Amino acid sequence: MGSDDKIVDVNFESLLRIFTVPEAPDSTLGNIEQKLSQNLNEFLREHIVAEEKPLSEIEKDFSDAAIPEIPSFVSEHTQHLLDTVVSHSVHTSAPSFIGHMTSALPYFLMPLSKIMIALNQNLVKIETSKAFTPLERQVLGMLHRLIYGENDTFYQQWMHSAEHSLGAFCSGGTIANITALWVARNNALKADGQFQGVEKEGLFNAMMHYGYKGMAILVSERGHYSLKKAADVLGIGQHSLISVKTDDQNRICPTSLEQTIRDLKAQNIKPFAIIGVAGTTETGNIDPLDSIADIAEREQCHFHVDAAWGGATLMSNNYRHLLKGIERADSVTIDAHKQLYIPMGAGMVLFKDPSAMKSIEHHAEYILRKGSKDLGAHTLEGSRSGMAMLVYSSMHIISRPGYELLIDQSIEKAQYFADLIEQQPDFELISKPELCILTYRYVPASTQQALALASATEKAEIHQYLNELTTFIQKSQRENGRSFVSRTRLTPKKWDRMETNVFRVVLANPLTGKDILHSVIEEQRVIAQSSPVLLPKIKALTEKILQS
Ligand SMILES: *Cc1c(COP(=O)(O)O)cnc(C)c1O
Repeated sequence: MGSDDKIVDVNFESLLRIFTVPEAPDSTLGNIEQKLSQNLNEFLREHIVAEEKPLSEIEKDFSDAAIPEIPSFVSEHTQHLLDTVVSHSVHTSAPSFIGHMTSALPYFLMPLSKIMIALNQNLVKIETSKAFTPLERQVLGMLHRLIYGENDTFYQQWMHSAEHSLGAFCSGGTIANITALWVARNNALKADGQFQGVEKEGLFNAMMHYGYKGMAILVSERGHYSLKKAADVLGIGQHSLISVKTDDQNRICPTSLEQTIRDLKAQNIKPFAIIGVAGTTETGNIDPLDSIADIAEREQCHFHVDAAWGGATLMSNNYRHLLKGIERADSVTIDAHKQLYIPMGAGMVLFKDPSAMKSIEHHAEYILRKGSKDLGAHTLEGSRSGMAMLVYSSMHIISRPGYELLIDQSIEKAQYFADLIEQQPDFELISKPELCILTYRYVPASTQQALALASATEKAEIHQYLNELTTFIQKSQRENGRSFVSRTRLTPKKWDRMETNVFRVVLANPLTGKDILHSVIEEQRVIAQSSPVLLPKIKALTEKILQS
């Protein structure tokens, strides 16, 4: 030992204690546990500070790359977490934070998560998960049935069949989308004669064998960025994710889709998957799934529906018709951690055909033996937690009609908010809500009149300032810390497809009341009117146009 080595208090006995002795009820951590279970919202309100601290300041608390040589007491460390992490995290479940896709969680999930973590099952194989394996298969069966509505015999036959799977549970929509396209790619380039399939021989040999110049995936210009990652990891390249034009309601144009397919085929590029989006991330609009299904059928393409966000709408018998055609999809992505109110880390992909996933099946001797029911044979991920239990529990505790109420209230609230915005002379609704997402922006009433008379250059100039104003309002509102809406950029037809910054609102949190919606726009109006530079510039341009 060097002379300057510290004598530190690390001994095996104290280490054993952290595996065996729980924290005392009156310790810092014990207290937190109590508060968390007594009143979660109060705990978060108390500990998350509202004022925004600049990230560069926060980074100072996380600047040391050395692993500590001296152990901390649990209580001390817990206090440290409260001060540095909890206080500067985001209160995603606050009713006035209406910009996130993940919102409030039901209470019962906190203690149930603890059970899940305590059991620490690994769902990759049955030997480390036992009952969790049939449980997860049942959850996949429930979602499969929600989408495809097969009969009891179907589920009795396939749900627990060792050689089949109705889908895969994974950490989120990204992995779900990659899995769906992985299956689609392998089925499109399957073994044939001497060729042993793309999974064995790779893309280069596959292209040679099939005589294609390339592969393509088609999705509307509102497709989620995870699809680009999928194209990249599947080796076909991001440029092979072809975006198709949308109409003025952010839905794919079927005629453009058909034309794009013809163009690709003329270049000897194989379109192997068409994706319908059921609830776009930015605007919540749903593609015409039946029309896409017709085209995919005719072209013999894999039809995937990305319903990561909107899929939960199927729970509502009042609104599930909006996703009509989804039952014709070869595969569907659903995120339980969005509108099914499950904590992060719960995505699913479901396949219509119980044999579809054979094309990505993997076996190994010590694990995932052939004929075993190991879930890992059909998942991209290896070790996986028992998150499916939380979906299972929520399905039972909330039930389908309970979810229906949650979905219905969110859609109806979005409708209310859209009407409210349309009643304001100084706000403009940009995308009407189909589900519970809508977008809008602040435009002074006189500027709205001026825009109707403005020349193209004047319009572009005002637009530029309005974009900056929208950004200014959104950032200031976030920094004030009372409420939060998100922001995105759209190209609305109404504004000649000019890039338009908009506020984006997701109204999933059942605790968000109408009073909050009123105060959110009131706060935005006050911020806009206090804008020192942008608003005066916009007003000046407005007057110039109105006077000429
Ligand atoms: C959220 C989302 C995804 C990605 O899901 P993650 O869970 O974030 O990986 C994919 N597609 C759509 C439409 C989404 O809304």
